[in-house]
Amino acid sequence: MNILGLVVFAILFGVALRKLGPDGELLIQFFNSFNEATMVLVSWIMWYAPVGIMFLVAGKIMEMEDVGILFASLGKYIMCCLLGHAIHGLLVLPLIYFLFTRKNPYRFLWGIVTPLATAFGTSSSSATLPLMMKCVEEKNGVSKHISRFILPIGATVNMDGAALFQCVAAVFIAQLNQHPLDLVQVITILVTATASSVGAAGIPAGGVLTLSIILEAISLPTQDLSLILAVDWLVDRSCTILNVEGDALGAGLLQHYVDRSESGSSAPELINVKRETSLTQLQAPPEEGNPLLKSHPGPAGDAGAFEKESVM
Ligand code: ASP
Repeated sequence: MNILGLVVFAILFGVALRKLGPDGELLIQFFNSFNEATMVLVSWIMWYAPVGIMFLVAGKIMEMEDVGILFASLGKYIMCCLLGHAIHGLLVLPLIYFLFTRKNPYRFLWGIVTPLATAFGTSSSSATLPLMMKCVEEKNGVSKHISRFILPIGATVNMDGAALFQCVAAVFIAQLNQHPLDLVQVITILVTATASSVGAAGIPAGGVLTLSIILEAISLPTQDLSLILAVDWLVDRSCTILNVEGDALGAGLLQHYVDRSESGSSAPELINVKRETSLTQLQAPPEEGNPLLKSHPGPAGDAGAFEKESVM
């Protein structure tokens, strides 16, 4: 299958559909319903997954001459994923946040520690979304219009953890099959991992499903996905933490820029407010205020001077 060609075609086709405007809506709705129906089918299939995986892994183990090598390499795969996720989540993402905002990223992360724990527990970005919104708004001061725009998009599209683990998994399967990777194939893995992580759903094992796209692209056997699925209950947890952390830091970053642009434009707004107030005062009919006050036009013709009327 020409996966890269399909990805490029899909992107261009999406752009073309958007250009059609209302005429393209029908096809977009068709694809959305198709996607939803596939998701329902996948959720049914997932109920059989434990039994299916058991037989697939058993078949793989029977094929191996030395089972120890398989477990050792699976252990290395898990460690590599966890280490990569830790470096990206604890160093790279906080560093990017710090470079752009000059604020302490770990204080921001402390504010979202509960949703991060939920992501670990549920392995689902979508399930973590409501709690993440609440925490970034209440604890990290991100405004509602930013969090409610950025976080749902991030939960579907931005998946750092999935992209990272998919690259490691593809290299792991290549090594397991003694399939040497040249530079073009490495670049293909990077490009397809980015695209397929965007397409992955924010549900448990969502990234494993789209991993097959990468394996197809570099001609690796997709049945080896069973090995990845067997240990995904662990890798997926750290993967999901990273997926939601990236979204939250993105929202925090945007909030920083919005705050900065608002503070830059605060002086003219204050002047406007002052002008509006004085204008209202000038235009207010004095009769509606104190009936004992009578206005006289000032020297410049404006109703500036008030004088107390004598009461007989
Ligand atoms: N479980 C992940 C998430 O919900 C997706 C994945 O499998 O990478 O973000």
